Amino acid sequence: MIDPRRSVPRTDAVLADPAVAIAVSALGHRTVKPVVRAAQERVRRGTLAPTDVIPAVLAALPAAPGGLTAVVNATGIVVHTNLGRAPLAAAAISALVTAAGTCDVEFELTTGERAQRGRATLATLAAAVPDAQAVHVVNNAAAALVLCATVLAAGREIIVSRGELVEIGDGFRLPDLLVCTGARLREVGTTNRSSVADYAGAVGPDTGFILKVHPSNFTVQGFTSAVDVGALAGLGVPVVADIGSGLLRPHPLLIGEPDARSALLAGATVVLCSSDKLLGGPQAGLLLGRTDVIERLRRHPLARALRVDKLTLAALQATLTADLTPVQTMLSLDVEGLRRRARALVVSLDGLDATVADTIAEVGGGGAPGLAIPSAAVSLPAALAGPLRGGRPAVVGRVAHGRCLLDLRTVHPGRDDEIAAAVRAAASMPTAG
Ligand SMILES: *Cc1c(COP(=O)(O)O)cnc(C)c1O
Repeated sequence: MIDPRRSVPRTDAVLADPAVAIAVSALGHRTVKPVVRAAQERVRRGTLAPTDVIPAVLAALPAAPGGLTAVVNATGIVVHTNLGRAPLAAAAISALVTAAGTCDVEFELTTGERAQRGRATLATLAAAVPDAQAVHVVNNAAAALVLCATVLAAGREIIVSRGELVEIGDGFRLPDLLVCTGARLREVGTTNRSSVADYAGAVGPDTGFILKVHPSNFTVQGFTSAVDVGALAGLGVPVVADIGSGLLRPHPLLIGEPDARSALLAGATVVLCSSDKLLGGPQAGLLLGRTDVIERLRRHPLARALRVDKLTLAALQATLTADLTPVQTMLSLDVEGLRRRARALVVSLDGLDATVADTIAEVGGGGAPGLAIPSAAVSLPAALAGPLRGGRPAVVGRVAHGRCLLDLRTVHPGRDDEIAAAVRAAASMPTAG
């Protein structure tokens, strides 16, 4: 028996392997070296053959730098929070690359002087929502809410319906977010019903504003009533409308989903929303509304802590000027076309247990709750779900009734061949049986 410790390949020998060297130039030594050490350690323990070190290192390395793995979203959930919400438009991705270097984010090239940060993005947003007198952009909708609560209601009251005290996700609850600013909540109505009289009875000298929140991730049915922005705007105090998912104007398919334009026309003082949900952009929080109020928000010291990065400004600008975002495309795809794609995939997966299934896709991510969007999927054995997630790119479907469904509404049509290859690779893995 040879002592395994004597046959451990040296680090410099492993790093000199051509495939490992390519990985080092893409990922850096700091990422590759620990992976090499882990493989050497396995050789020392006798759990890896010395000749298998290079393949083991290559298999354990990430596909790209950045700590994130690209995922094909085949869940049928258009805006999937766990998968990074909205995929960006091509123009937004290229804007990110320009902004990544030094750029004129706060500089006027013609005069050589300092300029308002992100002015092009703010002007584009203002033009996209002409009914807003002024606009501002912060880190996300939660930040926009915190800023409104701090500036307009710290030490005072925010009037809100009990039916709109929403938990956003991952345990974050709107009421906790609001009171952490020093504002007090004045809850009105009940879980299922609130009336104008409920709000009117709560308005007083301590009122900072009335908050109207879109219940964006659940629906209440039955004996229900809620008060719209228009009725609240008549009560003589500011109304802040959290519309959630960032539609700037009404969308023909998303009936009942609030939009910024309608809320402003109805009399909202400030409308706030996310930019990475239905708007289809990067993570950000948009604030649209009356000039004097937006100016107070913009000038508050907290605004500096909530300001967005140049990458966000660039991607948001490009999203606002894009002809069509991937989110809009996914929502508008015709179901017959999706079925055709599913059939073609099933044919190309000849020999595997794959069938076409009718499915229901949804908006997800806190938008248009309850809306059922007819869709089509490739239905596979549930045992393939894990190997598909473990492939590169990772393919994430959803498992239902013992089958792994790859819903094609959320998959870019240009990636169907990749899906077929991923399924074949997953089916050939030993764990798939
Ligand atoms: C999603 C959502 C939020 C939180 O938005 P972030 O941009 O994730 O901070 C707040 N309110 C409503 C109604 C939402 O739908």
